[in-house]
Amino acid sequence: MNLEKVSYHSISPDKVFRGNKAWEDGKELITSICKYPLLLGRSKSTSEIRSLIERDLNQIGVETICANLINDCCEEDLKFVSNIARRHNCDAVIAAGGGKVLDAGKLIADRLSLPCVTIPLSASTCAGWTALSNIYSTKGAFIKDVELASCPNILIFDHSFVRTAPPRTLASGIADGLAKWYEASLSNISSKDGFVQQSVQMARVLRDQLFIDGVNAYKNPRSDSWERVAEGCSLTAGVIGGMGGSLCRTAVAHPIHNGITQLSFANKSLHGEIVGFGILIQLHLEEIYSKNKLAKQARKQLIEFLKQLNLPTTIEALGLEELSITKLKQVSKFACKTESSIHLLPFSIDENMIFEAIVNSKVTSQI
Ligand SMILES: [Zn+2]
Repeated sequence: MNLEKVSYHSISPDKVFRGNKAWEDGKELITSICKYPLLLGRSKSTSEIRSLIERDLNQIGVETICANLINDCCEEDLKFVSNIARRHNCDAVIAAGGGKVLDAGKLIADRLSLPCVTIPLSASTCAGWTALSNIYSTKGAFIKDVELASCPNILIFDHSFVRTAPPRTLASGIADGLAKWYEASLSNISSKDGFVQQSVQMARVLRDQLFIDGVNAYKNPRSDSWERVAEGCSLTAGVIGGMGGSLCRTAVAHPIHNGITQLSFANKSLHGEIVGFGILIQLHLEEIYSKNKLAKQARKQLIEFLKQLNLPTTIEALGLEELSITKLKQVSKFACKTESSIHLLPFSIDENMIFEAIVNSKVTSQI
């Protein structure tokens, strides 16, 4: 480990409010950072909560300017929403929604040098916490991730808001949270950096919690399990990413996700649904190419768990429009790009190895 090299971390939002009345308490602090914030959202299903947020803020003297993402967290939408913020002289960005809305809100605030408030309305990712945004095309194809200057100023994780999200979003968040362990432990297998080692261990603890409580949380949104799991996926996963930095984020599962998003979907899959499938591909590669006998057992265990959460375990189950050799080669090529974190693996990897692992996924999911 090179102690001369400075490592920069954005570990946490300045203030985190969590619990059933997090919004009630958190909204007061918003008045201390802005008067005319942009309130960003997207889907119709969350419009009622966003109206409540807007009404409450107006009552305490904060005048919101509302805007919605049209396509995705893509440059076109970022430009369009940034222009609205500039035109109205907005003094902060409040992003209330799922991962794409949170990523877009953080990035717009970063580019305009404004304070940022995130209000996750599902537990599908840790995007409400991190100093990182993913940029996609208008059609949802992953382009790149961008490191931001800092984590959001305020994160409000109101359980009564998040609980209204469809269970499918929680399942997706669980798969994304599990990926922290599978990816960080593999890409840091020989790391001598204590901070990274400790982050990897935190990812292991999160994995165990998700395995223990995940199914109950998915079935019973009123249970204690739900609270532990929803916060694990949305908050703890963010701490791990912040502490471990770029080394602790991805290995194979996310590059596979990024490759798959390049294709067209007949039925859109959520981020974590694709990432969960990516973990299975990663374990398959580990089993074959690093002769890791435990990987086979781990894959079997994970397949069983994902099935209990109604998560896809084969490429066929991801809702893609067309599954041809050409399309799957396109996925493999994208996942294997030179700058991809896939090359952090302790063994060298090429497109053909990924292609074969994806093709085999149907057979191996039945083992
Ligand atoms: Zn993710």
